[in-house]
Formats: sequence, structure tokens, C-alpha cells
Amino acid sequence: MAKEKIILSGNRPTGRLHLGNFTGALENWVALQDEYQCYFMVADWHVLTTDNEHTAVIPTNTREMVLDWISAGLDPERSTIFVQSHVKEHAELYLLFAMLITQARLERNPTLKEQIRDLHLDSEEGVSYGHLGYPVLQASDILMYRAHAVPVGEDQLPHIEITREIARKFNRLYGEVFPIPEGKLTQFARFPGLDGTRMSKSLGNTIEMADTPQEIQRKIRKAFTDPQRKRREDPGRPKICLIYTYWKKFAPDKTKEIYEGCTSASLGCVECKQRVGEAIADFLEPLREKRAGLEAKPGTVCRFPIHAWRVSAQGRQWESVGCTRFSGMYVRCGANREATHRGRVIGAEG
Ligand code: SF4
Repeated sequence: MAKEKIILSGNRPTGRLHLGNFTGALENWVALQDEYQCYFMVADWHVLTTDNEHTAVIPTNTREMVLDWISAGLDPERSTIFVQSHVKEHAELYLLFAMLITQARLERNPTLKEQIRDLHLDSEEGVSYGHLGYPVLQASDILMYRAHAVPVGEDQLPHIEITREIARKFNRLYGEVFPIPEGKLTQFARFPGLDGTRMSKSLGNTIEMADTPQEIQRKIRKAFTDPQRKRREDPGRPKICLIYTYWKKFAPDKTKEIYEGCTSASLGCVECKQRVGEAIADFLEPLREKRAGLEAKPGTVCRFPIHAWRVSAQGRQWESVGCTRFSGMYVRCGANREATHRGRVIGAEG
């Protein structure tokens, strides 16, 4: 029986995914496939908002990311995996939605402020018009498919709020078209990186899903721990230590033992880190194996460095469904959909 509720989510193709991506979104997506009709998008236009100079790497990054998706359990037979830029209607809807929100509202977006700080965008060059409008493009991604829910990391919640505001405004002006989507958070939505701040590729504090056990150990050795624990015999404070957070996620059956060992100083940080590194490597082992199998097997995602959506047999079908919905919305807006060439080319009969 077809699932009634729809989910759309995606990642920017910045290459291999890290544990923050896995715990903050991907793991949740895998579980949601049982419950929802799922669309997972390679957000390649979104990547241009912060890096429009290195576009040559996008195909490789797309391939690496989709490999991580499928390795983690996204199933192309059940879910549709596609590339945003292959469905040009995302850009058209973005333009229409841009009329429904003010510049001041977009400038108040706390995620944007965080990105400006992290990426040092407060220099002379400043923030591009496209970067400011990132949440509006995201609204078009979500609302075009009338998604009911959007699984996201905590940092994306303000964007979902903007999508909800745009949907409400559109519905008020043109009639009830869009469901108001909800953001779905996971327990580990803000997963700490090796320096204790949010795990992020731009901050260089990640462990990647495809890292080898040796790479994991090398990275973990440099991780921050309890700063008050200066000597081996000092008791530690696991509740403020990121290594303990890793234990809770990757080997929860060991947390009692680690907590007691840390607070009594019978366990040292060097040993604790080494053991958690092994636990993470064990957790990731099946994913690494699946990835290696996909990379080695012809006829899978590896054949499609750009057109990753083709891994899904439903890709074409999705494209048609998406355009049909978009056509319907155009009628509501009063715009002349029939005048657009692309609508006919894709076969978007309303
Ligand atoms: S023993 Fe483990 S949990 Fe305790 S402070 Fe050291 S690394 Fe952190």
C-alpha cells in the first residue's frame, strides 16, 4: 500500500559524510523509509551558495555522498534519490517564493549568522544574494512535493521555520495548496566534533563514515576531553566530555562502566579514547563493507558520477510527479505555465 505521508530531505554534495551527518540526519532517514514516501536530494545548487569556484568537484562529491547514503541503508528501490539541478522547476518555484519573504526576515536567520561567523563571510565580499536566499530555495525543494516532514539537524530548524512561513503565506494568498511541514530532529541532532564544537567539515573536526579504523584512531587521539582533568589521577567529568557522548552513541552498553572508570580516575583518557575509537570502527564496519561492495560492482551508483539519481528506478517517475504538482500550483498563482518550454519537454501534464 502506498505511504501517504511524504518526506523530502537532502545534503549538499560536499563529499564524504561524517558522523555528524550520520547521527544528525542520515540514520533518521534510513528509519523513515518504512513509514514515509521518501525523496532524498543531492542539493547541488545549494552548494554554490558557499562555494561557486570549485564546481569541478561536484560530480565526485555527489558520488561519494550517495555511496555513503546507500551504505548507511538508504534503499534506492524504496526511496527516490535525485539531483536537484536536474529538476529545473526548483529554481522556478524559488523565484515565486522569493516574492513572499522580505530581505529583513532572511537576514534574521540565525543559521545564516552562524555560517557568516564560521566561514568568515563578514569580510569585504560579504554574503551573496543566493546565500541569503538559501532558505527560500530550500522552501521550494520541500514544498514542491508537498512534504509533510523534513528530517533535519538542529541547525536547519530555522530554515524549516522559513519554509513554514512561506507555505502559510502562499496558502493565505492563493488557497490551501501546501501542508505545513514539520522538522524532525534526532536525539543526536547536534553531534560534537573532535574539538567539542558542532561536527562540521568546514571546521576540520570530523570523523568520516568511510574512515578506516587507523584513521579513526589517529583523529580520536587529538580529541578534546575534560579540560580540568590534567593528571591521570584526577577524576573526570564524563557529562561534559565529548568522548563520553561518542560512547553513548556508538556503544551505549558500555556507558556505565566508562562513567564509573572516568569519575573514579581508574580509567585514563588515552585508554578511553582508544577504546571508543575501536567501538566507532566496529559500528562503521558493515557500512564500510557495503561501500566497498558498491564501489567494486559495475551497474551501481559508481557508473553515474553525475546522474546519481539514476540509481533509483523511480527517478523518471518522480520527475514527472514533481512537475505535475508544480503545474497545479502555477494555476493557483495565475502564471502561464503553458508558455514555458520546459514543462512540455519534461512532460508535465497537469
Ligand atoms: S576518561 Fe573518557 S570520558 Fe573521562 S574525561 Fe577522559 S576521555 Fe572523557
